[in-house]
Amino acid sequence: MLRAIRVLAPNPSVYTLEGTNTWIVGGGPTIVLDPGPDDPAHRDEVLASAGEVAVVLVTHSHEDHGAGAAALADRAHAPLFAWRLEGATHLTDGQRFLVPGADLEAVHTPGHSADHVVFLERANGALFTGDAVLGRGTSFIDPPDGDLTAYLASLRHMQELAPRTIYPGHGPVVVDAGAKLQDYIAHRAEREAQVLAGLEAGDRTVAQLVERIYADYPVEVHALAARSVTAHLRKLDREGRVDKAGRGSSQTWTATAPNACARCGRPVHGRGRYCGPCSLALLQGEATS
Ligand SMILES: [Zn+2]
Ligand SMILES: [Zn+2]
Repeated sequence: MLRAIRVLAPNPSVYTLEGTNTWIVGGGPTIVLDPGPDDPAHRDEVLASAGEVAVVLVTHSHEDHGAGAAALADRAHAPLFAWRLEGATHLTDGQRFLVPGADLEAVHTPGHSADHVVFLERANGALFTGDAVLGRGTSFIDPPDGDLTAYLASLRHMQELAPRTIYPGHGPVVVDAGAKLQDYIAHRAEREAQVLAGLEAGDRTVAQLVERIYADYPVEVHALAARSVTAHLRKLDREGRVDKAGRGSSQTWTATAPNACARCGRPVHGRGRYCGPCSLALLQGEATS
């Protein structure tokens, strides 16, 4: 069984739930994952629990995960690795970190941020997910550094890793990792359908979409929700499924009219010439001819 101790940082907020989870993995020496914010008391607590530290790892450069990393690595006389963080050595995809009882492999998972990395402990089916998957609620995608298209690809990549347990950057440990990843993908698909339905019902701005989709939420979350709706619109724009006009807060969006499939005439949403079944049929025809 994997030895993973959680030290909760004292930085609760709407983004961080109860605070950042700093994970201490393996033992004699340990790996410290996500030292958290630059907080001396938290640093002392982590160092006291970690004992000798082999390496300090950071999932991504957001302040609540990485701001205290350089100081902690310094105090522990340990090397610091991250995809993109001041004072850290650049991680590579697939890089492994071994200590007694743990073998962590870095997996680049952009989406929440461009520099996001998760760490897989294969033997135990454990995945340390930072902000890519939280113990509760959803990951926040704030464009342009946050990218929903990349994020969905990263969720599928994490599914392929087939983890059993998720050790998130915020919130409780998730014991059914497969169900959680499936939920996350389904949630984004549902939001996308809501955005398209809003556009079809006549909404033209992000604010109008937020008002419709988040009608049951307190207005305090509307600013965050607007970033999330924007992330969905950017994904749909890239797929040729929406048109935009204007800039900034007066920017308007409309759903593009579907094209007729060049083979069967059924509606095709987006830039493709053929509908899904016809694309498949053409591909298979090509493969056999
Ligand atoms: Zn983050
Ligand atoms: Zn975070």
